[in-house]
Amino acid sequence: MVGVTHWDAVVVGAGPAGSATALLLARSGARVLLLDRARFPRDKPCSEYLSPETTRLLERLGGGIIDAVAAGSHARLAGMKVVAPSGAEMIGRFDHTGKRFSFALPRTRFDAILRDAAEAAGAVVREGVKVEDLVYDRGAVGGVVAKETYRARVVVGADGLRSIVARRCGGVRTSPPRRVAFTAHVADVAGVTDVGEMHIGRTGYVGLGPIGGGVTTVALVVPVRALPNRPGFFQALEQFPGLAGRFDPRRMVRDVLTTGPFAQWSRRPVAPGGGALLVGDAADFFDPFTGQGIYSALRGADLAATAVLDTLTAGVSLDAYTRARRAAFGGKWLLERLIGLGVGWPALVERVVARLARRTDLADLLVRATGNCVPARAVLAPGVLAGLLW
Ligand SMILES: Cc1cc2nc3c(=O)[nH]c(=O)nc-3n(C[C@H](O)[C@H](O)[C@H](O)COP(=O)(O)OP(=O)(O)OC[C@H]3O[C@@H](n4cnc5c(N)ncnc54)[C@H](O)[C@@H]3O)c2cc1C
Repeated sequence: MVGVTHWDAVVVGAGPAGSATALLLARSGARVLLLDRARFPRDKPCSEYLSPETTRLLERLGGGIIDAVAAGSHARLAGMKVVAPSGAEMIGRFDHTGKRFSFALPRTRFDAILRDAAEAAGAVVREGVKVEDLVYDRGAVGGVVAKETYRARVVVGADGLRSIVARRCGGVRTSPPRRVAFTAHVADVAGVTDVGEMHIGRTGYVGLGPIGGGVTTVALVVPVRALPNRPGFFQALEQFPGLAGRFDPRRMVRDVLTTGPFAQWSRRPVAPGGGALLVGDAADFFDPFTGQGIYSALRGADLAATAVLDTLTAGVSLDAYTRARRAAFGGKWLLERLIGLGVGWPALVERVVARLARRTDLADLLVRATGNCVPARAVLAPGVLAGLLW
């Protein structure tokens, strides 16, 4: 394969979305080049929890991925706790038998497993290659430009939040709430259990979850407007009632990684003239609160690979991908946006958390929907939405 200069598909970005797409395409016989500007293992700002339904997607990918993830995941989450600004809290569980749980492992390990699986399936992987532009062939995208030009029948933009492929294709949109995140690994955090924690404050929120070996991933998310007066990382954590006194700053075992602003998506996940599509964060990333990004990246990879193979083998337009995404993600997008906007309103959070502390059935339902165990529409039913408030 090495030496081929004209590929069936060039996939830009070897995160979960790109590696899974490359794996599926290569396994179907396509000649695939997978490019990443980083060298693996590489880190990624994330809370590093794989929503329960992600397990099924990883099993379907095959290639020994699920076994490698299970072996590398020394923490498992059984549900999520949400703490309101007053300190009131609710807990939702993925199920009550312990069978449904979410793996939690460092992205350095998880992403390397997927990247290696793509290579084992036949994709040619080149690291340290930063894509800077697209090339066009009679109006359609026909390849990418890095230090050299790579020509392809289809380009897959899986290059994350700041995707160059998305920007070159046009149609990138942003909306409130504009938030940024600071994530760190901290050892020996007091009171960590097998339930992930989301602490909502008057300005921003914090996600907390174990990733094994006594280490906890801590993600502080704040609005861009709060940045000028931002206290230090640990000082900011101390301001949340459920977090005060739980951290020893000397136990930070990985420096803070910063990313954002979020609430960014592409109006169309397919290039206007054809020849390219977007998957994962490159296509859409609203807010990290619900922790569904890896699920969306893998589910999106499924849809993207199907669309690319239909184009390669039968000349079907990539536009089918736009419709497939809407059908697969419509409810999830709405729920994610309602929750992402809602956590910016402290009074609303207090009300919903107080309500869900009493209605554990609804708390479980909400946590299962954000964990992708049940469809988002189960929560979007008017009766359920009303039940969250009254
Ligand atoms: C604070 C925070 C917490 C989160 N917590 C969770 C969570 O607990 N669970 C969950 O499921 N999701 C979570 N997410 C979301 C999740 O991290 C993303 O949705 C997921 O990583 C998307 O995968 P991806 O493959 O689309 O992009 P990425 O994982 O970002 O991969 C993109 C790849 O593209 C490469 N790249 C970028 N530009 C170029 C270029 N020009 N040329 C070549 N390569 C390039 C990058 O090096 C990178 O390897 C969180 C996000 C944030 C910000």
